[in-house]
Amino acid sequence: MADKRDYYEVLGVSKGATDDEIKKAYRKLARKYHPDLNKDNPEAAEKFKEIGEAYEVLSDSEKRSRYDQFGFAGVDPNYGAGQGGAGFGGFQDVDLGDIFGSFFGGGFGGGSSRTNRANAPRQGESIRRTVMLSFEEAAFGCEKKIQIERTEKCTECGGTGAEKGYTPETCSNCHGSGTVQQTQRTPFGAFSSTGPCPNCHGTGKIIRKPCKKCRGTGQERRARTLEVKIPAGIDEGQSIALRGQGGAGVNGGPNGDVIITVAIRPHPLFQRDGYDVWCEVPISYAQACLGDKLIVPTIDGKVEYTMPAGTQPGTVFRMRGKGIQAVNGRGRGDQFVKVTLEVPKNLTESQKELLRKLEESDNPQNHPNRRSFKDKMKNLFGKK
Ligand SMILES: [Zn+2]
Ligand SMILES: [Zn+2]
Repeated sequence: MADKRDYYEVLGVSKGATDDEIKKAYRKLARKYHPDLNKDNPEAAEKFKEIGEAYEVLSDSEKRSRYDQFGFAGVDPNYGAGQGGAGFGGFQDVDLGDIFGSFFGGGFGGGSSRTNRANAPRQGESIRRTVMLSFEEAAFGCEKKIQIERTEKCTECGGTGAEKGYTPETCSNCHGSGTVQQTQRTPFGAFSSTGPCPNCHGTGKIIRKPCKKCRGTGQERRARTLEVKIPAGIDEGQSIALRGQGGAGVNGGPNGDVIITVAIRPHPLFQRDGYDVWCEVPISYAQACLGDKLIVPTIDGKVEYTMPAGTQPGTVFRMRGKGIQAVNGRGRGDQFVKVTLEVPKNLTESQKELLRKLEESDNPQNHPNRRSFKDKMKNLFGKK
């Protein structure tokens, strides 16, 4: 049973699907693959069995949770023992009344098929773009031009699909609904289903003289440049939706959206952490010992920061309110300045001499860490 498919995959639902979603997915598939409706497709019976097995587990909260935890082994004692699948009786175990109730009750599960009608209102396509911003553009906000290509109503016919002077007529076969009833006989009796109208191909309309520009579709593709206002404080991976700026809706449905996701180029000096800005400032040994007025870059420009004498490397100073404007407008983050010590290489002989003198004159009281380190060493290895 190495080729056993995941039950969620079988039903085409997500791991977090609700009971209702599972039931709906099962019903749809069970109808599609029922062996009696697929006499000339031998694979359908296998499929149907697989669907039934998946539903048996996922519709039972206890079995489902065991399956989530332990996989197939949690719901089938034979799984992995080489006999695979023996624990399941295929579709006999499945509540057939459940499917057939909707088969024969009153047509063919009306609701879902109706939304698939070719003339039902549908939302236009949504278009996704990524826009690359500099660190400052994201921090302060900016305006960007975005190139897209979208489906729009044909300018020639105004979206009707008919040439000027003509209007689309309502299909006489389906009376504009786009669907027709079909009756089929099965061993369970006759049942009717709805399908797209062959006369109008499900559109509900007949166009005698199609518009030449759009060949009757009522739509055309157009390149557009959109201006997007990027708010201050936006961060990597966040998106802005331009509602209704995507593809034109179909049959009176709403337009799609344009979704713009932000990517931010790295900055040579600043790193971002939410609305806080981090920056590293290298200092010399003398500056660390004596203290200094540091010139620190911030997103607003250079500022002077008075670093006290005896600053240790790795010390972080916080400059409140010098970070990035929150995207919701509530205040600004902080800037953190991390001090790093840069040790010089290739000193001249006279410089080395000065350092040796400094070292000789140094007082051990000035080095509490070194003293405590030495004490710990003594405790560990004895006085050697
Ligand atoms: Zn047209
Ligand atoms: Zn029709």
